[in-house]
Amino acid sequence: MSDYAHSEVKVTVLGCAGSSYDEELRLPCSSYLVETHETAILLDCGFGSFESYSLLVPNSRLDAIFVSHAHADHVADLEAFMDAADVWRDQPRLVASEQTTASIVREPDALPPGTLVLARVETHLELPFLEIAFSLTTHQMPTLAACVSVGGRRVAYGADTGPTWVIPPHFVGADLAILECTLETRDESSSRFHLDAQEVGNLARELSARQTLITHVPPHENGEVRLATARGVATKENFLLATTGLQVMLK
Ligand SMILES: [Zn+2]
Ligand SMILES: [Zn+2]
Repeated sequence: MSDYAHSEVKVTVLGCAGSSYDEELRLPCSSYLVETHETAILLDCGFGSFESYSLLVPNSRLDAIFVSHAHADHVADLEAFMDAADVWRDQPRLVASEQTTASIVREPDALPPGTLVLARVETHLELPFLEIAFSLTTHQMPTLAACVSVGGRRVAYGADTGPTWVIPPHFVGADLAILECTLETRDESSSRFHLDAQEVGNLARELSARQTLITHVPPHENGEVRLATARGVATKENFLLATTGLQVMLK
């Protein structure tokens, strides 16, 4: 039995902890399932996301996994997904840039044809029932943001990025934006490859999505302050704080 209407797109947070995996807390890291009744794509598959999948959405069947970059909090469970035949509708399919693929796939030639799908900033990728556009963010390694068009809705996923990410026009006005907020408040020692809550507010304003999901908060830190700060910066935007298991219906 399905829990959402035929015209809706369902987004499920399989994990949203940022930057590290805490063995004690066992908070799953970045992973977002975007699905309709026809198709499903997983945006990243960090530590713990495979277990979340089994617990939260065991009946979903994937058509693709998009991996934004090769940090473990975004890709650690890839092998578990690729090896589990029953999570796929048809065949395993990995969407990633050339650089990311080179660092996460050990034997590309051993994979069945069609498993690896190249993500390129210059071209929109078309898969059955969905289309994806990409954009290079500003992070420690080559990292792609993705804008997924599916079921008449759009999800703009910023992956990991610093505040200097240049948002392409076609990412603007999505039904849902997913933005990392690794830092509460930036200081001189903060990484320029991540966002603080003020910067999330600014980017959210620029993205003007119907809803903005704040995510990638490190374990042991509190997202509520980030949420309040972002709301203060972008008063017209509609913010949500990601938690594992959260489901957002895009109507
Ligand atoms: Zn990350
Ligand atoms: Zn990263």
